[in-house]
Amino acid sequence: MVAAVRVRFAPSPTGALHIGGARTALYNWLLARGTGGGGPGELVLRIEDTDRERSTPENVAQILEALEWLGIDYDEGPVMQSGRAERHAEVVAQLVDAGHAYRSTAGPEEVKAYKAAHGGAAGFRGTDEGEGAVRLRIPDEGTTVVSDVIRGESSFVNALLDDLVIARADGTPIYHLAVIVDDLDAGITHVVRGADHYSNTPKQVRILKALGAPEPVYAHVPLLHGPDGKKLSKRHGAASVQELRDAGYLPEAVRNYLALLGWGYDDTTTFFTTEQLLERFSLERVSRNPAVFDEQKLRHINGRYLRELSLDDLTARLETLTGRSGLRGAAAISQEKISTLAEFWPLAGFFFDGPADDPKARAKVLGGSDGRDALARAREALAEIPDPWDEAQVEAALTRVLEAGGYKPREVYQPVRVALAGTTVSPGIFETVALMGRDATLARIDAALAAESGVGAPEG
Ligand code: GLU
Repeated sequence: MVAAVRVRFAPSPTGALHIGGARTALYNWLLARGTGGGGPGELVLRIEDTDRERSTPENVAQILEALEWLGIDYDEGPVMQSGRAERHAEVVAQLVDAGHAYRSTAGPEEVKAYKAAHGGAAGFRGTDEGEGAVRLRIPDEGTTVVSDVIRGESSFVNALLDDLVIARADGTPIYHLAVIVDDLDAGITHVVRGADHYSNTPKQVRILKALGAPEPVYAHVPLLHGPDGKKLSKRHGAASVQELRDAGYLPEAVRNYLALLGWGYDDTTTFFTTEQLLERFSLERVSRNPAVFDEQKLRHINGRYLRELSLDDLTARLETLTGRSGLRGAAAISQEKISTLAEFWPLAGFFFDGPADDPKARAKVLGGSDGRDALARAREALAEIPDPWDEAQVEAALTRVLEAGGYKPREVYQPVRVALAGTTVSPGIFETVALMGRDATLARIDAALAAESGVGAPEG
């Protein structure tokens, strides 16, 4: 059976997989796996590692790992572009033999002089010298039309295009040639890539024409900007997929948000399960305007995904991220309060590692006699709780303290919170006290009272 679409993701491994690259990968994957490509398609992963200095095995490994984390799988590859050098050279030779290309020693100076002599804008035309770099002949007549699903049709006047260098004097093929040959050999039907490659497309189309090969469907996806309108960079927060993972975002939320960077189903829907994306994504609905990556929006989407996880699932993910175990109880009472997995430990780490070290919070809440008095009363009431020590009884005990002392809730809850957590943020106070258990709760309150009254506090 012939696949409906054959697409490819072709990252250059010169660094980590960035958000823009991840979005390109996702769009290709959605076309191959979803219905927007007209049926089951195939995705080829090609690593464009021809920049030998900047392409490192570590970068390749990082890209593969990022794709795996995102749940983006592929049918072929990774194909290393560098491994195809002989095939590229073969096609260059074929183009020379057919008279579509010639060898010329002309360098930038000659090209400049040629243009100056021909009115400034004319495309360079060289002569066959039998040596030097290989240039593809561009016809003087007509136009080269680039037809793009997202950007429509553009014509480029051939007379203004330089005869295109396709191989250096030492025989090594240049990038455009490699891309075209690799796409042709892989049977790629749709080239979906970043808009930064749009200006390369007329050159690549000329190579295709010389080879007598049909053009793929082109779709250049819009550039990404930060909320300030500038090109997306590290200044805007997490810039690579690894950073998103380490910041505690869930891959399904990242997929959802990446899909929205340039694509929309309608004007209002922002939550799409991966199944819905597979069903609804199509290139026709990708915008040509730059998209804005806003980490706050991602956080919002992530928070919703996080709250919908089952407790087992959430616990497993937290345990993977933190490398700790036994987090289930704390996960349960934190789930409503966190938007990313990484927010869990700052919120609930005190259960496991002891109270946080926040002298300001201690001074503010327990530094005066009011706070310490309230804490002492809370201790008394909590100590009287009969078994079982649970949320309902904790709530009842602390409510009695409020009523007896005429306290506002925070006048009692904050001292208890600071005693247990060391700081002024924690999950809900009743849940926190219940989960901490009788012994640890009373011990931490005693330690806090002792420390704040200036008497040496026992450890614990
Ligand atoms: N290797 C190029 C990049 O990482 C992509 C080229 C292409 O998709 O044609 O930007």
